Amino acid sequence: MNKITKLLGIKYPIIQAGMVWCSGWRLASAASNNGVLGVLGAGSMYPDVLREHIQKCKKATRHPFAVNIPLFYPQIDELFEILFQEKVKIVITSGGNPSLYTQNMKNLGIKVLHVIANTKFAKKAEDAGVDAVIAEGFEAGGHNGRDEMTTMCLVPTIVQNINIPVVAAGGIATGQSMLAAMSLGADGVQIGSRFAISRESSAHELFKSYVVNSKDGDTVLTLKELAPVRMLKNDFYKQILALYQKGTNKEELTNLLGRGRIKKGIFEGDLQEGNLEIGQVSAIINSVESVKDIIQNIVADYQLTKSNLYSINDKV
Ligand code: NDP
Ligand code: NDP
Repeated sequence: MNKITKLLGIKYPIIQAGMVWCSGWRLASAASNNGVLGVLGAGSMYPDVLREHIQKCKKATRHPFAVNIPLFYPQIDELFEILFQEKVKIVITSGGNPSLYTQNMKNLGIKVLHVIANTKFAKKAEDAGVDAVIAEGFEAGGHNGRDEMTTMCLVPTIVQNINIPVVAAGGIATGQSMLAAMSLGADGVQIGSRFAISRESSAHELFKSYVVNSKDGDTVLTLKELAPVRMLKNDFYKQILALYQKGTNKEELTNLLGRGRIKKGIFEGDLQEGNLEIGQVSAIINSVESVKDIIQNIVADYQLTKSNLYSINDKV
């Protein structure tokens, strides 16, 4: 057992990231049933949809699962009420100040993890009383930190600066990258993109194929003036680029983004007009696999890579 498997009551120190329009109850329960922490991404769910997914997830697994809540969600208090009523045991918060909600959850015995992208926010989360932080680097898909810290640099920095467990995220999709993150001092990893492209993900098949066929350099971090996000290049991105090239402002970017672009791209499969959020690891995701195969593959690669690692011999 390590700090994360003990804290979360799971077999492997792996969290399936909460991802809008991908991680409904099918993905979360499959992840939990295969030894990792499954997570429902509540950001794109209306309150009654979230309740439905929690209830379906409870029926589909007897193992622990969590709900991810972006703290800037419009009806945040309503969501928390549902988590409390449904007795959700683990909550992952992101995108906001953890000091507003953490103590309430801790008083109810809920384990709380918070996503951060720099030391300042990691310390704030530790002071707020969270059980662990998820340190997410620049490689990650979707919402991203402003500082552009890569996972390679972010994880050891956070490990040096706080005393609670650290989960590494961003750029991790294989047993090899999991081993690298653990070597940097992480107690566990959070994996998003590879699970977004699993069979159990709610994402549209056209989106999954687009990711499978993508290569290095195909994702880009953009829209920093609004909220930095990493997405795949497509027609929608060309429209963003055209605005930047002529010189743009926040208002124009907001108008172009409009509403519901992530749903359009990821859930409805509109590859031209949708916002196709995914991490840099999309370049090494080459097929749509079941959650079971993904996890078994990651664990086997981790063990094999660890045993084959070059050991430096001082005597030579
Ligand atoms: P349903 O069980 O009503 O499923 C809706 C339809 O989508 C069904 O035809 C179902 O197939 C299919 N479907 C959904 N997910 C998958 C999947 N992973 N693999 C294969 N087929 C799938 O709805 P859900 O319980 O899935 O969701 C309830 C509500 O939540 C829906 O309104 C949906 O729009 C929303 N939702 C929101 C998500 C988000 O991130 N915001 C993610 C997922 C769903 P079948 O008939 O075979 O069950
Ligand atoms: P938009 O404002 O463009 O669209 C809102 C989308 O969320 C619509 O598709 C809408 O569905 C759905 N939705 C679900 N619940 C609500 C609600 N209570 N009020 C309004 N809309 C709701 O937002 P985005 O699509 O850019 O982002 C949606 C959410 O996802 C945000 O809360 C954001 O914080 C979160 N997010 C988190 C990410 C992460 O990495 N953690 C990444 C990206 C987004 P419908 O069309 O059916 O009305």
